[in-house]
Order: sequence, then C-alpha cells, then structure tokens
Amino acid sequence: VVTAEHAIDSLIEAARWMSARGLLPATSGNLSARLSETHAVITASGVDKGSLRPQDFIVLELHEPPRPGTSAETPLHLRLYRDDADVGAVLHGHSMVSTLMSQRGEREGGLRLHGYELQKAFAGVGTHDVTVEVPVVPNGQDVEALAGIVATRLASRASGVVHAPCYLLAGHGFYGWGRTVADARRHVEALDFLLGCELEKARMRP
Ligand SMILES: [Zn+2]
Repeated sequence: VVTAEHAIDSLIEAARWMSARGLLPATSGNLSARLSETHAVITASGVDKGSLRPQDFIVLELHEPPRPGTSAETPLHLRLYRDDADVGAVLHGHSMVSTLMSQRGEREGGLRLHGYELQKAFAGVGTHDVTVEVPVVPNGQDVEALAGIVATRLASRASGVVHAPCYLLAGHGFYGWGRTVADARRHVEALDFLLGCELEKARMRP
C-alpha cells in the first residue's frame, strides 16, 4: 500500500517532467498511481499537467465506474490496474513521435523494435537482440469499448516477440506503465526515444 500523499508527489513530479519534454501538450494526458488492491489516484480532467497541485487528483475505486471530474480516458487506466496486479503506475501522453508513429503501425497492429541497446530500459528485456513489440490499437471515442479492445490486443502476443510495457492509440498517443511511477517514467522515456529513432530512420531512407 502506497500513501496517497507519496503517490501524488511522485505523479506531480512526473507530470512536470513529461510536460517539459512536450509529452502533454494543451492539458492533454493523464497520470495515475495505484494505492492498493482496490484504489488508485488519477489527475483530474482539463488541468495543466505542468503545474499540478495535490487538489488536482481524484481517488478512484478500481472496480467502480469512474467518478465525475475524472478524464474521459480513465477506463483505460482502470483496465490496466484490474488486469495486472503488478501495474503500479500508468502515464498517458500525446508526444509528437508517438502520435506520428502510431499511425504508421496501425495497420499491422504494432511497431517492432530490434537491435537497440535502450530496449533494455523496458522491464523484462535484457538484450538488444530481441524483438520488442509496441502494440498499436485504432483510436476510438467510446472509451469503455476501447478499453476492452486494448485488453484483447495486449493479451495476444505473437511468438518470438516481447511486449513493451506500453501501447499506442493510433493518431492519439501512448500509454506506459510500471511497478512504480519511476519505472513507468523510464518506460515512457525509452519509448519516446526509440520511436524517435524509428521516425528518423524512416526519414533517412532514400
Ligand atoms: Zn489521450
């Protein structure tokens, strides 16, 4: 069990960091952390994530419908916590590279990364010599339905690939998670760097 105060402090710091890196433009994105088996805390809707205050957070019951004032995307956070007890924090943002690269991977349902040392930043990946897949799901405005589609996609892994602890919504942005806020942050930073590499690689091709 994590105290709400500690979780909120870590999320405020993570949001400031994500904001400074351009991952949360125009009040977009949302950040959450697990408090217990049954509760989590999430950013309120519509606030500037670069200057969050403790009152900008809402406590959620993981098995109840989202409370008023939470972001429309709250069901996507809830589903990750419900489906995996090891998920301790979820960071969602709209960086330019994730927005662009997600559209590139939409048809195949994922983007595959191989040969990058920084893949090792993802929990469970110990070598550059493995293929890491970042699942991509078409965007949708019926977020409850979308949460189900995402869960199905995350549960289906092709043989010979490892899933990154993140996924992309096409033309929308990324969701990244970890056991702690610090782990989720590292995953999101590695994802953005690796997607940036793939974007540059595509540009370098004659
Ligand atoms: Zn979003």
